[in-house]
Amino acid sequence: MSRPLWVRVHPRDNVAIIVSPDGLTLREFIPQSHKAALSDIAAGQPILRYGEVIGLAARDIPQGAWVREEFITLPVAPALGELQLATAIPAPLPPLEGVTFEGYRNADGTVGTKNILGISTTVQCVAPSVQFAVNRIRTELLPRFPNVDGVIALTHPYGCGVAIDAPGAAVPIRTLHNLALHPNLGGELMLVSLGCEKLQPARLMPQESPFVIRLQDQQHHGFGDMVSAMMRMAEERLGELNRRSRVTCPAADLVVGLQCGGSDAFSGVTANPAVGCAADLLVRAGATVMFSEVTEVRDAVHLLTPRAASVEVAQALIREMAWYDEYLRAGSADRSANPTPGNKRGGLSNVVEKALGSVAKAGTTALRAVTSPGERVTAKGLVFAATPASDFICGTLQLAAGMNMHVFTTGEGTPYGLALAPVVKVSSRTALAERWPDLIDIDAGRIATGDATIEDVGCQIFDLILDAASGRKRTWADHWGLHNDLSLFNPGPVT
Ligand code: CA
Repeated sequence: MSRPLWVRVHPRDNVAIIVSPDGLTLREFIPQSHKAALSDIAAGQPILRYGEVIGLAARDIPQGAWVREEFITLPVAPALGELQLATAIPAPLPPLEGVTFEGYRNADGTVGTKNILGISTTVQCVAPSVQFAVNRIRTELLPRFPNVDGVIALTHPYGCGVAIDAPGAAVPIRTLHNLALHPNLGGELMLVSLGCEKLQPARLMPQESPFVIRLQDQQHHGFGDMVSAMMRMAEERLGELNRRSRVTCPAADLVVGLQCGGSDAFSGVTANPAVGCAADLLVRAGATVMFSEVTEVRDAVHLLTPRAASVEVAQALIREMAWYDEYLRAGSADRSANPTPGNKRGGLSNVVEKALGSVAKAGTTALRAVTSPGERVTAKGLVFAATPASDFICGTLQLAAGMNMHVFTTGEGTPYGLALAPVVKVSSRTALAERWPDLIDIDAGRIATGDATIEDVGCQIFDLILDAASGRKRTWADHWGLHNDLSLFNPGPVT
């Protein structure tokens, strides 16, 4: 079978991505995943990929030349006041009936994909003490509770030394609140506070919970007493969690968060469209599918507002884009800060090209709802949960939104993982999957080489989501215990 040498995504495109692992020599040598000009492009003319303008030629580019990053000027972002709102709402796809997984049903109606004891904290001051207790709980208590998957400390740098009443403070506070109520923690709340901090337990958990330990309370004589108190409370919570077992749940109880990191020029033609195919299957099965990363949606927002299920949803999407434009402006930054050196090495010239590839993850269904950073998602179907694109901050905010399964696409590769939810990692290139066979769960690079279709890989992702959510299969990140720290988004001032 002959192998394709390059990929053109859309018939209008005047650039293509080199597929051959060793690159390709046309007018000059062009490395794999970088762009070749398919025709002569005069200075000032648009450079088209995905059928969209990714920039203007900064100089004459002859056919067969390497379209380098510095040959492309960044176009202005789509004007937020001139977008089409809910003008092309996709018709619902046929429902997929009877799709189920095995999960832990919670009293609040959510469903866990893991059964974990989470110890929340109000403030960074207590983090090492809680971690000390967690290490002892893991070795001394956990073996007696075989139905519990693990114990984690939900530690973070927030809680004091911050302007707690500033508008921006609402974001980290609601994030911590919603993390404590994460579906994989089974509602067995446990909270450790210092005592004097600004983020008091009652502020974090307005419904006062009896399961709070304050390290400054007079009853604790020394560190040993504090650790004993944490272990006693943990033992009680572990007993409750240990009585739970998995039950058959409809796919509608899945909340799947989509993200990318270390993207390359293949991400938008292999991994992200395959995830988009899986997203459509999940939506058809009734699940919630979230995509995020405002800076990677901003330049493709004109493709999304027409797909909004209502004018209100489209306006909510625009509101989140506008908030972020202002946030970047206040920090004297703009969207050109986004592509990383790794993105550029992987052939992504600018944030427009990155965004057009990124939104392929969202599939083809109607956009049903939009939430602000740290809010819980309640809608079914496709949802935009606004977050920064930073992998850890996005992952943390998606967890706060209620994500119980995570799908992460990567071109350059990252060993990223989360303790609170299984992370399925999808590579955009076969070379990465072959180099990291014990970190990458699914190879979408086979789409570029013609060894698989987008649908083949999409179905594979869908199946692995159901298996990992049911505890039947482990993702590589969980196999090795690779769990990145929670990372809060704090747009408010630090004092
Ligand atoms: Ca990211």
